[in-house]
Order: sequence, then structure tokens, then C-alpha cells
Amino acid sequence: MTRVAVCACPDYDVAHVTSAVERAVGLCGGMERFVRPGQSVLLKPNMLSAAPLEHRVTTDPALVRAVGKLVLKAGGRIIIGDSPAIDKVSRISRVTGMKEVADELGADLIEFCRPILAKTPEGSIYQALELDEAALTADVVINLPKLKTHCMMLLTLGVKNLFGMVVGPRKSQWHMHVGADRVMFADLLLDIYRTVKPALTILDGVWGMQGRGPNNGTPCHLGLLAASRDPLAMDLALAPLLGAHPASFPLYNAAVRRGLVRSNGADTQMVGDDPKGFIPEDFQLPVLESLMPAPRFMSGAISKHLTSRPVQDPGLCRDCGKCAAVCPPGCLRFVAPHRAVIDHMTCIRCYCCQEVCPADAIHFKTGALVGIVERLRAIMPQ
Ligand code: SF4
Ligand code: SF4
Repeated sequence: MTRVAVCACPDYDVAHVTSAVERAVGLCGGMERFVRPGQSVLLKPNMLSAAPLEHRVTTDPALVRAVGKLVLKAGGRIIIGDSPAIDKVSRISRVTGMKEVADELGADLIEFCRPILAKTPEGSIYQALELDEAALTADVVINLPKLKTHCMMLLTLGVKNLFGMVVGPRKSQWHMHVGADRVMFADLLLDIYRTVKPALTILDGVWGMQGRGPNNGTPCHLGLLAASRDPLAMDLALAPLLGAHPASFPLYNAAVRRGLVRSNGADTQMVGDDPKGFIPEDFQLPVLESLMPAPRFMSGAISKHLTSRPVQDPGLCRDCGKCAAVCPPGCLRFVAPHRAVIDHMTCIRCYCCQEVCPADAIHFKTGALVGIVERLRAIMPQ
């Protein structure tokens, strides 16, 4: 039986976060259970972009500080690291205050940039994965995700945060590989999670993000921290409470299909505070666009308009060029001023451009074919 602890934490006041972290970790057995004196401990927050803290894009440094203090008390040596999809760790840590926390803890603050090949455990889809050396050589990994929605995977919680163990440019290669296939992406995430095996996951849900996450959603106050030895158990326990129907959560479908969890959640025990007391009834999940391709017999121009596709609003564009830089197949060109020109025939519908856009100027437009199929599904008997 895997424990998932939920603890109230009203804000990022140092005393409140410290006491909530101590309680949550205590409910999981205490830090001494995970960290022994002299061990190297990698703390992996979500450091997606250099957005101001109040946008709630990144794990709050207050959580990293409180967890780090417990690690030091247990005798561990701390490394803080990530491979951000947008921007550099050095800039993100200056903007968010993570740098001061790293200095206070005497921790190395690193950008993952040294991929090494790791053999995956038995039962994996991929035989080996290239992940950062720090993730694979640290004695202990503590995963510190942010509670956010995700336009492609519905939610990003504990398991999705581990995609940051993939070094920068390799992320694009994986997006090219899995394309618009959410189940395939969920399988990849599960293989990373099983290979990295974080000892402990502590989720920052004091303030989370709802709507069009993970970078352009709306801040949402929940006032909770969650902790577990198993991020998959945590994700699957919290997802329904956030309004995600299991069938619509790709990670759940992949995990059940692979026999990693029981479909009725009977292998998880919730402890601590009642999570229902924290989650707003109207928590907004993103609408997962159906990304079905058009049938092969349709010509390019027809299929372009029938399938869901990214579109840009030039009126919102800030001319940063990040969308073009991130596009895995290079099918998006930035043309100054204010225009992103997208070749929808080669677009793989990976959501990367939408995710990195700092102006929320790119969104997905539902294709006509998708709309027809979804209307038919709605009226057909189940
Ligand atoms: S245009 Fe956007 S959704 Fe399409 S492949 Fe490029 S980054 Fe991905
Ligand atoms: S669409 Fe967004 S990401 Fe692309 S150039 Fe404009 S502001 Fe930057």
C-alpha cells in the first residue's frame, strides 16, 4: 500500500512551508528514511521558464528551501537541477529567487547538460534512455513538482516533472518521435519515472496553475502540499480530485494498461488532510484537443483545415522567436514583425510552440473533422 500524504499549507511563509513539509515528509516515514549521512541528494524542482513567481509556473523556492533544510539535517549534500524547456537555469533561478535558496543551502545549482545512456527496468517500452548524469548518479533523487494543468497531457504533477531529466535538445527529438500520440508520450514518461526512481516526491500545490498550462494558464490557490514515495500513486490519487476523469488522463490509461497500478486505486492510501477541502470545485482543466490526423486520401489543403492545428494571434505576439526555436520539425518560421508561419502539413501537433510562447499568442484550433467526430460520439449510444 503506497501512502499519499496531503497537508494544508496556506501560503509560502517560511514557517508555514517548513511545518507543512515536516508533517508531509513525516507521514511518509521521515527524511532519515530516504537520506543517509554523506549521500548526494538531487532536488528536481519544476523550472520551466523565467516567469515571475506569481505566475505560478515554477516550483516555489520556499518549498525547495524547506525540503533542503531537512536533507541537510539528515546529513545529505544537495544538488538542485533541471533542464528547462524555456530559458536557462541561471536566468530562471535569478528571476525566481532559486539562486538565493541554493546559496543558503550551500547547494550546487546545475543545468542538466550531460546525457548518459541508462538501461531501463524490465517491462519498459524503451530498452534504454538518455538522461542527465546527475539524475542517474545522485544517491537520492527528490522530485519537487508544481501542480499544473498541461494542454497535451491534461496535468503535470509528479511523473511529468521527471521529463526534465531529459537534456535540452533531446526533448525535441522525443517530441518528434512521439508526435501527437499522448499514450506514447505517457509511456515514455512512465519509463523515465521507473528508471530515475525518485525516493520521494513533494508536490507544490500551495499555488498551482489551471486552464491552459503549463506556462500560460491561470494561477489557482489550493493551499496544499502532497508527498509520496511514489509519484505515480500521487498523480493518480490527485487527478480525479482535480476533476480529471481517469479515461481522459493519458498517464492513467498507460499505467493501467501496463499493470503498474490497479485501476480501482486500491493500492493507495491517502493520509493527512482531506484533499477535497483544498481543491476548488471549478478547477479548470484544459480541453484536450483531439489530434487525429486526416485520412490519407485527403489532399494537403483539405486535411489542413479538417484536423486540429496550432494557430497564432499576431496581435499578442511579442517577437521573441521562441516558438520557432523550439519547434521540433522546424515547421514554424518566425517572420518579424509578429508572425509565426506554420506549415501544418509537417506540424506534429506537439504543443511545444504553445507551451513556450510567453504571450499566450498560440492556441490550438479544433479541426472540422474532429468536431464532426466528437459530435457523433456525443449522440451515439455508449
Ligand atoms: S508548429 Fe507547434 S505544434 Fe506544430 S510541430 Fe511546431 S512546435 Fe509542435
Ligand atoms: S508567437 Fe509567441 S513565442 Fe512566437 S514570437 Fe510571438 S510571442 Fe514569441
